Formats: sequence, C-alpha cells, structure tokens
Amino acid sequence: QASRSFHPEDSVIQLPHSEIGTKTFTIMAGPCSVESEDHIRRMAEVARRGGASILRGGAFKPRTSPYSFQGLGEEGLRYLRKAADENGMDVITEVMDETHVPLVAEYTDVMQIGARNMQNFSLLKAVGKTRIPVALKRGMAASIDDLLNASEYIASGGNTNIILIERGIRTFDHQYTRNTFDVAAVPVLQKLTHYPVIVDPSHAVGCWDLVAPAAYAGTAAGASGMIVEIHDHPEKAMSDGPQALKSDTYLTMTKRVAALRQCM
Ligand code: PEP
Ligand code: MN
Repeated sequence: QASRSFHPEDSVIQLPHSEIGTKTFTIMAGPCSVESEDHIRRMAEVARRGGASILRGGAFKPRTSPYSFQGLGEEGLRYLRKAADENGMDVITEVMDETHVPLVAEYTDVMQIGARNMQNFSLLKAVGKTRIPVALKRGMAASIDDLLNASEYIASGGNTNIILIERGIRTFDHQYTRNTFDVAAVPVLQKLTHYPVIVDPSHAVGCWDLVAPAAYAGTAAGASGMIVEIHDHPEKAMSDGPQALKSDTYLTMTKRVAALRQCM
C-alpha cells in the first residue's frame, strides 16, 4: 500500500492545525522529553514563534540505559496536550508499547514510532488498527525497504495515515555525529511511496551546531517538513541536551528554512 504504483498521488495528512504533504512544509518542534508543565508551555511558545504547528515532546522515552530518565508518562501527555491547545498547535508524541496505544491516543494527534521500535511488529499492528496518523522513524540500522515494510505493517491494518521520518542511520563513524544523515533517502522514499517524508535533523546529527545545516539539506532535498528538538537550557535537559537548539538558533534556522522553501 506504500507504493506509488498503487497510489500515484501524494498523500496528505490533515490535522486540526496542520497539513502534512508535499505542498506544505510542516514544522514539529519541542523538547526531547516533556519535563514539567511550565517547561513544555514555554517551549510551545518558542516552537510556535518559529512557525511550528505541531508540538513534540516525549512522555514515554526509549532510553539507551534503563537508569536514564524514562519520561513522565500520562502526566507528561497531559502537560503536552495542554501546552499545544493553549498555542493552537497539534501534538506528536512517541508510543513505545502496544498496551499504551489507547492511552496515548487520547492525548495526541500523531503517534510517533521511534527508531528503536521500527520493527516492533506488534506495536505497528496496534497503531495500524487505529486511524490516528503515525509518524514512523527509520530504524538506526534499517534499509529503505525495511522502513517501507514496517510501514506496511501499519497500513495492512487499515491505517494509511503514515508519515515517514529520516532520522539518520548508524555508520562506522560516530565521533563527530551521532548518526549519518541519509539525505538521499528523502527523494528515494518520495519516488517509491506516496507518504509524506520528513526529516529529523536533531537525531540525525546529535549536536546542536550541526542541526541547522542538516535541516537546510533536508529542506533542499524536498522534505515535507521536519521535527526538531529545542530547549531553553540544553545543559539541564533531561534527555538529548547536546542536540537541542536554543530559541535564537531555532528561530534563525526556521527563518532560513522558510527562505529556502521560497526558492523551490
Ligand atoms: C526522539 O524523538 O526523541 C527519539 C527518541 O527519536 P529516535 O527514535 O529517532 O531515536
Ligand atoms: Mn530525542
């Protein structure tokens, strides 16, 4: 169902405050994790000022170590929803476990499937049974065909409201970048599938000063949007501080992305 031969026109995802498709460039921004009610509210205001129509923030975090902050759970979902509503924004948040799907579905407009869960087939089938848009991240060691097959697990349940996210893959060099941003994946996926393709420059590069260049590359490659992490005090962030943009960097970047889009 992912194939262009099956569905030649570009798919467009409609949300209350946003549209995700090839004619628009949709910005999703927010902290890696929802940290507190006050913090997510402040971050929502910054996100919106940069043109984001979707607020991101994890309440269930897939941390590499079980001893790292795991997220605020339902309390985090509540704060995230409230901050988005106050700012006229939609919500994207990660669902990590199939048993959490009904709970997360109560609060979010888009369910994010993280890179680590791209081939969690029972989770993919569970979100495939809903009709809530799903943003599927490419696994860190997944080929393009692996990503498309994963999307098929969602679509085969009847949910074809799918967004694909290129967020970098693991290669032999992680000394200077967290992952390797596969920018060509954007046009390749657009050739193969009708789903909107967006980029995640934050996880792709892993350090804040490289996020904007990756975002420009993704924009120029024709992505339908981006998801980006921001934080007012990255050094105090509960997760992914090193890649978080402070508001001035974020606002400059989004202005330049908008200018780049004008040239396309
Ligand atoms: C995230 O969006 O914070 C995240 C955990 O991303 P990924 O699944 O791409 O690592
Ligand atoms: Mn993160």
